[in-house]
Amino acid sequence: MTHTSIAIVGAGVAGLAAARQLSNTDYMIFEKSRGPGGRLASKRIEQLRADIGAQFFTVRDPRFEETISLAQEAGAVEPWSPRMGTFRNSKPIDSPDTQQRYVGAPYMNALGRFLSQSIEIQSETRIASVGKEGSRFVLTTTAGAEYTADQVLVTAPVDQMSDLLSDFDINPIADKFTMEPTWTTVVSTSEQLVTEDGKILDACFGGDHPAFDFISVEHSKPGRNSDFVVIHSTPEWAKSHLEEEPDFVAHEMARMLSETFKIKARAFVSHRWRYARPTDPTLTTQKGVFQVDSGLWIAGDYLAGGRVEGSFLAGIEAAARIVAS
Ligand code: NAD
Repeated sequence: MTHTSIAIVGAGVAGLAAARQLSNTDYMIFEKSRGPGGRLASKRIEQLRADIGAQFFTVRDPRFEETISLAQEAGAVEPWSPRMGTFRNSKPIDSPDTQQRYVGAPYMNALGRFLSQSIEIQSETRIASVGKEGSRFVLTTTAGAEYTADQVLVTAPVDQMSDLLSDFDINPIADKFTMEPTWTTVVSTSEQLVTEDGKILDACFGGDHPAFDFISVEHSKPGRNSDFVVIHSTPEWAKSHLEEEPDFVAHEMARMLSETFKIKARAFVSHRWRYARPTDPTLTTQKGVFQVDSGLWIAGDYLAGGRVEGSFLAGIEAAARIVAS
């Protein structure tokens, strides 16, 4: 059985940020997928890619700013300045602002790859359970392998965290910090998204629209050459279509976009995020971290307000508390 001082579950932004702080420590990081980045995801579609998770991020904290500057120097991140819109009375209107936004380059997953440099990830390794034997934790993978650790940090979304930690009392967290789903659909169109008074939009917040949460025109982001438009649904729309077939959802969301903007949009693919974002982003634990048991920690955007930056800072904070304990 392999032993490590610190086991991190999840190589999304929070897990990677924590691991980067632990370079002088004996740690292992486990990830169920093939690559790092979690919801900083892009999907291959006909020789191209589209961002299907987070569409952009903002930077407010100097610690995140420092890392994002390095990522920018390395070409993994670029600024994005979309002509922004929103919905009022379910109609698209322009909504210009001066907020600096960033995207991964060439796709959002580049930030995950950048953060994972010099981190050895146990990829395609799904942890099924975490238990405690004496003073040590035992992590069991779905393939039956076991690892022991002195401390554990779980960065998976709240529902997956609850499944993993069923031996521990996590109900106070799981009942409070719930997450909501989103359906993401990629469509293609040769036409522009234009408001009724003729303003061209590169991106659009959902405003009061019942189905749309965010819409991005991919080629408005630096380096993207596709004619893809990515649509995120509201949690309410996702919940009422949760178990529908992806093809049905793709056509339905493409139809709604076509009717709203009076364009022809071809549905490509839909992805269901069961745990996309916190139900209530105003609800947070202290710095996005929580100690479940002595040496057992959880961290992630669902405890930190739902933003990419929140995940990053939660990971840093978790590592600091682990090292200090
Ligand atoms: P931001 O500063 O661009 O936006 C913050 C919020 O302000 C937006 O959600 C939007 O409601 C509003 N807003 C900002 N500019 C606007 C404009 N020009 N017109 C209309 N409304 C505008 O970005 P941020 O603070 O970095 O946050 C990104 C957002 O992504 C968060 O609100 C978060 O809840 C949301 N989100 C997160 C997930 C997730 O998986 N965690 C999923 C979907 C959305």
